[in-house]
Amino acid sequence: MVSQVLPFRVNEHIVSELIDWDRVPDDPIFQLTFPQRGMLDQEDYEHIRCLLRREAASHLIGDAANAIRLRLNPHPAGQLTHNIPRLGGRPLPGLQHKYRETVLFFPGGGQTCHAYCTYCFRWAQFVNLPGMKFEAREADDLAAYLKAHPEVSDVLITGGDPMIMKTRLLRQYIEPLLTDDLAHVRNIRIGTKSLSYWPQRFVSDPDADEVLRLFEDVVRAGRQLAFMAHFSHPVELEPAITREAVRRVRDTGAEIRIQAPLIRRVNDRPDAWADLWRTGVSLGMIPYYMFVERDTGPNRYFAVPLARAHEIFRAAYRRVSGLARTVRGPSMSAFPGKVRVLGVAEIADERVFVLDMIQARKPQWIRRPFFARFDPEATWLDDLEPAFAERFFFEEDAERSEADSPIGTWR
Ligand SMILES: *Cc1c(COP(=O)(O)O)cnc(C)c1O
Ligand code: SF4
Repeated sequence: MVSQVLPFRVNEHIVSELIDWDRVPDDPIFQLTFPQRGMLDQEDYEHIRCLLRREAASHLIGDAANAIRLRLNPHPAGQLTHNIPRLGGRPLPGLQHKYRETVLFFPGGGQTCHAYCTYCFRWAQFVNLPGMKFEAREADDLAAYLKAHPEVSDVLITGGDPMIMKTRLLRQYIEPLLTDDLAHVRNIRIGTKSLSYWPQRFVSDPDADEVLRLFEDVVRAGRQLAFMAHFSHPVELEPAITREAVRRVRDTGAEIRIQAPLIRRVNDRPDAWADLWRTGVSLGMIPYYMFVERDTGPNRYFAVPLARAHEIFRAAYRRVSGLARTVRGPSMSAFPGKVRVLGVAEIADERVFVLDMIQARKPQWIRRPFFARFDPEATWLDDLEPAFAERFFFEEDAERSEADSPIGTWR
């Protein structure tokens, strides 16, 4: 029923290596990959069930599924409206440029994954919602855009999962970035869950060695190949083949950073995070972000209140050595920027959240502390009310400068 609406895909590695079937349905990787009834509202669930029961025509089921999908905030935080850059007036739908230093690139060949996470914030990429998919067919637009933007130091190739692509195709996207006229592009990042979901990609797939050669070429060109590896739970680091894949990727000179959202039923315990960071560090990886589950898709099933998210972060952070305290969070990728919950404080008899931005549409907003009224139920920035002020400082600032399209405000 649920997979009529939300994407579902799993594979042999996950089913036999990662899920502990004695713990199903509570097993974290089962919750991470298998659709759960609670992900749909009762009413929506019944509606789909009814259509399937009476063997309705597939276009009717499709229409019903699309209506539900559109109510699930398929593109949060202004992704379709505010982050798409232009080149000579022409929009480039396969690119996003929200923060000055980093351009996101969505190659057309990389818009699926080896398996789908139930909580995926990019879920709209995997279902056929008309007009809801961003992807690029050409690497030329990317290179041309970067030539015109010397302030960009990082390209993040993302999806979906770019590591779903064969090496030959991936090389066609990456090689043009290594030329001398794009020397300002210092870091090539790849956002991927392949080390968890399909470590075979780097060990035993037919072009496993070839992809390692590509990473070596990036490093030899004097750039950093930064693997932004999505790991949700320490159990994903256990298989021997995953450790072998990590070792092989690192041997190319690439750096691996680990990040994931905090998800109820998957990793909402401090021990899970402390273990993940500790084991990650001992395998040579760098803890990077703990995200707050975004306000999209079946978010209500997975959301953890901000107050609890901060407690979990702090409890885990306390338990690890300084080498793992490179991690930042809990962070919301919200409309104005990446908003971090720094803590809860009592100020002038009022209980407040202390927040700041790690990334922002306007660089002058970064690392400026601000306050919101404490609310134990709040799960997202939109739920928060400013404390000691009528508005949040960035709302006033956005209005003053009428910075409707952020792209360009810092130029
Ligand atoms: C997180 C993010 C980045 C990268 O931010 P870093 O803090 O440099 O890792 C870039 N673009 C978007 C839209 C992001 O959400
Ligand atoms: S790997 Fe990333 S893009 Fe793919 S399903 Fe999981 S969260 Fe979504």
